[in-house]
This record gives sequence, C-alpha cells and structure tokens, in this order.
Amino acid sequence: MNQGKVDLKGLSLKQLEQLLLEFGKEKYRVKQLLRWIYQRAVSDFEQMTDLAKVFRRQLAEHAYVSAWQPEAVEESRDGTKKYLFRLSDGESIEAVRIPMDEGRATLCISTQVGCAMQCRFCLTGNFGLTRNLTVAEIVNQVCAAQADAPISNIVLMGMGEPLHNLDNVVAALQILYLDDGLGFGTRRVTLSTSGLVPEIAALAEQVKVQLAVSLNATTDEVRDRLMPINKKYPLAVLLAACRDYTQKTRQKITFEYILIRAVNDSIADAKRLVQLLHGLPCKINLIPFNEHEGSEFKCPAEETISTFQSYLMQRQIITMRRASKGQDISAACGQLKGKLDKQAR
Ligand code: SF4
Repeated sequence: MNQGKVDLKGLSLKQLEQLLLEFGKEKYRVKQLLRWIYQRAVSDFEQMTDLAKVFRRQLAEHAYVSAWQPEAVEESRDGTKKYLFRLSDGESIEAVRIPMDEGRATLCISTQVGCAMQCRFCLTGNFGLTRNLTVAEIVNQVCAAQADAPISNIVLMGMGEPLHNLDNVVAALQILYLDDGLGFGTRRVTLSTSGLVPEIAALAEQVKVQLAVSLNATTDEVRDRLMPINKKYPLAVLLAACRDYTQKTRQKITFEYILIRAVNDSIADAKRLVQLLHGLPCKINLIPFNEHEGSEFKCPAEETISTFQSYLMQRQIITMRRASKGQDISAACGQLKGKLDKQAR
C-alpha cells in the first residue's frame, strides 16, 4: 500500500520543506506536520485536522508515516524494559529503556542489524553485520518507546556500530533534535563507538552529540584481543583522535571501560589508564562485565572493582560505576535478539 511512497519519518527538515514546496505549500507548514508526526504521534493524514483537505490528500497520495509497535516487550524486576521490533524485511532489532533517578529514563537504541566489529565480550558481535538501519528505523525506536512512556535521554549503544552507519545516524540525530518534533537537546543524546577514527573526525564536523568511546583495555595487546578494530586503529591513534575531538567540539568524552576479571582489572591497568588519558577532558564509566551464557569472561570481584575505581578517583579522573541493569531479562546488547532467534529456529 505504501509502495512508491516516501516515509516522512526518514526525512530531514530540509527534505520535508522541499517536499512541501513541490506540493505548492509554504515552508512553515513543516512545523504543523512535525507536531502531528512526532509530538502527537499521528500517522494518518486524515487526522491532521489543521492541514487543508487538498494538502492531506496530496500527502496521502505521495507519502506515509511509519509507526511501530514492539513485537515483544520484556520487563525486568529493576524496571528495565526491552523492546523487540520486527522490520519490514523480517529482521529484528531491539531498544532498551533503563530507568534512572526521579522517574527519568534512558533509551538505548540500535543503529544496525548485527554488527561487523566482532568485539569478543559482545553477543551482537557474534552475529556479524546484516545491514544498516535506515534513518526512519533509527527514529522509530525512539517514537515507539516514547509512546510507551517518556524518555529523557538517548544512547546509541544498542546493536551495531553507529559510526559504521554514519550518514543515517547523523540524519536521525538531526531529526531527533528538531524543535517542533521530539526536541531532544544535544546534551541528552550519547553516541558510543568502538573507535572508528576517521568517522570520529567526520562526526565532529557534522552534528553535535555526546561522544562515548568503548575503550576496555590499556595495552594494544589486550585491546587487539577484545576489540579487533584496535588492529586498524590502535590505542595511540584512537586517543589522538579523541583529543582532536575534544578540542574541536569543546566537549568531554566518556570512556566506557568494561571490567573483566583477570583481563583488564589490575592496578597496573588503572595506572596505564591514568597515563593514557592524561590531559584529555573526559570521564570514565566502569561497567562490571555482565556474565552471560556462552561467554568466556567473568565479572571481577567486588573488591577489585572498588579498588580500580578508587585508584582513578584519587587521581582526579571522574569515574562512575554503571550497573548492568536488567540482568534477569538478558539486557546486555544483543541478548534478547539472540534468545528470540534461538526460539524461532
Ligand atoms: S560492542 Fe558494539 S561495536 Fe562491539 S560488536 Fe557489540 S555492538 Fe558491535
């Protein structure tokens, strides 16, 4: 039914304005359209009652607004909620709502089906890359979760390497930021990368977003083993790109550090970490490894985690400990998809 029509959810402000011009409409009508689509979550043009009837008919002839419902929702005892979405080509992706203080919530969204990066600690890495998500598929995860309950922050940290799908991710961020649309502030959106160096530089040129870099090791030997991307962009090259990014954007970077028992959790690691990050405006998120079925890695002992954190804090590095939430609903990235795909086989 929507064949040959354009999905308005995938269009930037400029593209929407262009479309309206083609229909002989004034540019400012875009605001009305954005409010219907994103603020009132209306996808049927007939219900957009402040638009002229002829305009509504034109829209219905040439365009549509995709609207998603999750195929499955799992809720954890700690309030974490996982949404599984079925895509039009039968593939599936997931988004996770993580409750925070004072009733706020962060939504973790996916940017690809699968992932090419093959990080050893990640289940998604085992699947390999199937395809990039479209702009609308990225935006729709946020819209569908918002329809369930309000979202205060977004992290691009689900399935996929966001910078491996840079163009669509940048376009989707620009849509999420639109004032008359969802209106997310750039400080409320964080993009997490495994460390694609040229794309980090390109990102700084194209859009504002909080950057998180998944570091996870303090030597090339260990990082090569955990994250094969390190063979292409070793630590020194990655950290130089991070320094450039902070200078260009005047923003801090968050370094994610998954603590894995006897792999990267020693005091020697903490010491090297301090040296590597010297003079770089940043903070660290320490994430104790979320043990899961089939993984060779273990979570460090509680004492090791707090010693590691104290070492960094005593050296003036802001270090937050992030709990792995939703452990009873397999909320580490890729796990729900893994489980459902297994059931489907
Ligand atoms: S951790 Fe992220 S970048 Fe690495 S394989 Fe998993 S999804 Fe890809």
